[in-house]
Amino acid sequence: MLEKVLIANRGEIALRILRACKELGIKTVAVHSKADAELKHVRLADESVCIGPNPSTESYLNVPRIISAMEVTDSVAVHPGYGFLAENADFAEQVENSGFTFIGPSADVIRTMGDKVAAIEAMKAAGVPTVPGSDGPLSEDNERNLEIAQRIGYPVIIKAAAGGGGRGMRTVHTEAHLINAIQITKSEARTAFGDDTVYMEKFLTTPRHVEVQVLADGQGGAIHLGDRDCSLQRRHQKVLEEAPAPGIPDAVRQEVYDACTQACIDIGYKGAGTFEFLYENERFYFIEMNTRVQVEHPVSEMITGVDIIKEQLRIASGEKLSFTQDEVIFRGHAFECRINAEDAKTFMPSPGKITNFHAPGGFGIRVDSHLYSGYSVPPHYDSMIAKVITYGKDRENALKRMNNALDELIIEGIKTNIDLQKDLVNDGEFIKGCVNIHYLEKKLGL
Ligand code: ADP
Repeated sequence: MLEKVLIANRGEIALRILRACKELGIKTVAVHSKADAELKHVRLADESVCIGPNPSTESYLNVPRIISAMEVTDSVAVHPGYGFLAENADFAEQVENSGFTFIGPSADVIRTMGDKVAAIEAMKAAGVPTVPGSDGPLSEDNERNLEIAQRIGYPVIIKAAAGGGGRGMRTVHTEAHLINAIQITKSEARTAFGDDTVYMEKFLTTPRHVEVQVLADGQGGAIHLGDRDCSLQRRHQKVLEEAPAPGIPDAVRQEVYDACTQACIDIGYKGAGTFEFLYENERFYFIEMNTRVQVEHPVSEMITGVDIIKEQLRIASGEKLSFTQDEVIFRGHAFECRINAEDAKTFMPSPGKITNFHAPGGFGIRVDSHLYSGYSVPPHYDSMIAKVITYGKDRENALKRMNNALDELIIEGIKTNIDLQKDLVNDGEFIKGCVNIHYLEKKLGL
């Protein structure tokens, strides 16, 4: 097993990683910015290093500082969490070149999956179903691009190959707007991502977002932990997730699971990963792969009993998967509500001091959060401050528990989206299940 792991992240996920390390007897090193000295995991870690000032570019995104921190603390591996450097292939490469272990897939795999055009190609080759599209990047040939759109059928969506975080996408409904939309998306992509490669896909009008969690050991072993529905989104940001995705025929989901695990073996995948799909009319369409642990991983843990972070650590230490697909037992249903420090109406971040924090409890309730009374939420980073996760023997039971949990949750001193989450878990359509990716924005009148 790895002896000492540096946690290159902050907040709830840093604490989540620390807990998994402690269970496995791994020593931990927390790195933090100046503003983050009071984070819960910093206090609990065996060692901690301040790696710089508050802006993430000077701390959590600063590769030389993180690698220096590994050197001075004799860490053997780094866990990147999600966000920050988690999907940065250059970081993974530099970590490995410096003689350390990057907890995740190889830099080459991260690079391929970070280029959406290359990722789609790799998935097609492995038999994963993709969205009908341009089969590669768009050229400067307007005639040809018009032909491609005609073949796919309007509406289409122009997407940046290097895009991420819901940016670099433009929907086109009619032929008259196509060429202009391609030009604008290209120039935006050049500015935002330094790469103006764009491609075209059929724009699915009422899909759900359904994703498949995988674990692969890079030694021929690959399994899936089922699917999650993350259709409740605002500005392409997930708000509330559940596992399993409701209402999907078993045969349809089994086929996509098989394709995902086969793809892991084909591309030499190592670690935890997620295949993201749009799901419409009983069909899955691959959109991208995330080569890291995701915010919503706990819902899969709850219905399988598998600790995804511990598996990441075991795989990174060179172990093979310790269980087979048949040994993964799916049981019950789980929800996750993301609690953000934000204004309920404007969604503007609401940092500040937490004067009172009380976490809910009881059977089937889990709270992943770094909060404590007296903690100050800094203004410099993501506004997510807690995840409330509930498990139940079925969807109805898990949803009831979420209702109770949200009623018990107290966060005072700052504004939060707790009321929005309460509203959502009591929403008639959501209770029925299977709402699409536009549902939340429509409900909010956006
Ligand atoms: P990002 O990497 O920026 O998250 P994705 O490719 O994962 O980009 O797409 C983000 C979201 O954009 C999806 O969850 C979906 O809401 C929407 N989207 C992307 N591609 C399509 C498509 N072909 N049709 C309809 N919606 C799409």
